[in-house]
Amino acid sequence: MRTIAIINQKGGVGKTTTAVNLGAALAGAGSRVLLIDLDPQAHLTMHLGVESAGPSLGTYHLLTQSLPVEQVTQHVGQNLDIIASCIGLAAAEIELISVIGREVILRDLLLTAPQQWDFILMDCPPSLGILTLNGLAAVDEVLIPLQPHFLALQGMGKLLETVQLTCRRLNADIRVTGIALCMYESATRLAAEVVQDLESFLLAARQQSVPWQNAQIFRTRIRRNIRLAESAGYGQAIFDYAPGSRGARDYAALAQEVLAMSTSDQLTTAPDQPAAAGAPSELCEPTAGQTT
Ligand code: ADP
Ligand code: MG
Repeated sequence: MRTIAIINQKGGVGKTTTAVNLGAALAGAGSRVLLIDLDPQAHLTMHLGVESAGPSLGTYHLLTQSLPVEQVTQHVGQNLDIIASCIGLAAAEIELISVIGREVILRDLLLTAPQQWDFILMDCPPSLGILTLNGLAAVDEVLIPLQPHFLALQGMGKLLETVQLTCRRLNADIRVTGIALCMYESATRLAAEVVQDLESFLLAARQQSVPWQNAQIFRTRIRRNIRLAESAGYGQAIFDYAPGSRGARDYAALAQEVLAMSTSDQLTTAPDQPAAAGAPSELCEPTAGQTT
């Protein structure tokens, strides 16, 4: 089983769209997939047409009452299950404040859950709080969606620092495996510059023992496609809403890349030493392209 947290503390970069459609693409390719909505905004839940204000159990009950995973899981399609969110999940941050080991609740519950999925994908909120930490503590892989625009790399330093701290203190196995470029506009010079900056940063990391040592930028670019935005409003994954669209083709291709990773070195090389201090902050610096 592969467990992947989809994180970026920036909002609107394509986390939820990627969780829904990568999940649906993997399910369509025959993998059994569980999606966990860790965001109180419940966009993933709604995107899959699941009632977020209803009486059903979900992530909130999982985290605050430690209910078994099976009890809060809903079936939403062939090979596709979800643990739904609701706005009440925002209260979990406060309710858990005095709970010992609050960062590892999800990890512990997943450890005792039946191993009935090939992939667990988690859609994280746009913050690095307790909900995201629960996601990071529970997964082996991190997938970062990135929108290559002005200041796109700002904030990556903080994000990687959080992954690094998670690696040291909560989850030694965690690795950043992929960066997915979302809402990509190939015609812009800025997009090319952001990708170039990111490539040199990752190249430098190959020599360091950091959780993103083997991270790759997915070759598939998720292009801007209005059908992807529309499908959310219809409560459908792109493969049901517009199977012939560019969005559907891009997410199907991304899923193939994710599947191909299963056998690659990337998933077998774990960082074995404390990481070089200060490395992530490089990405906080303004990049060459940001003034143009
Ligand atoms: P996040 O979860 O990071 O906040 P979302 O996945 O919700 O980001 O995306 C933000 C908005 O952009 C949503 O309205 C979504 O439908 C839209 N969107 C996401 N990816 C694309 C894309 N490739 N093309 C067009 N619109 C997109
Ligand atoms: Mg979201």
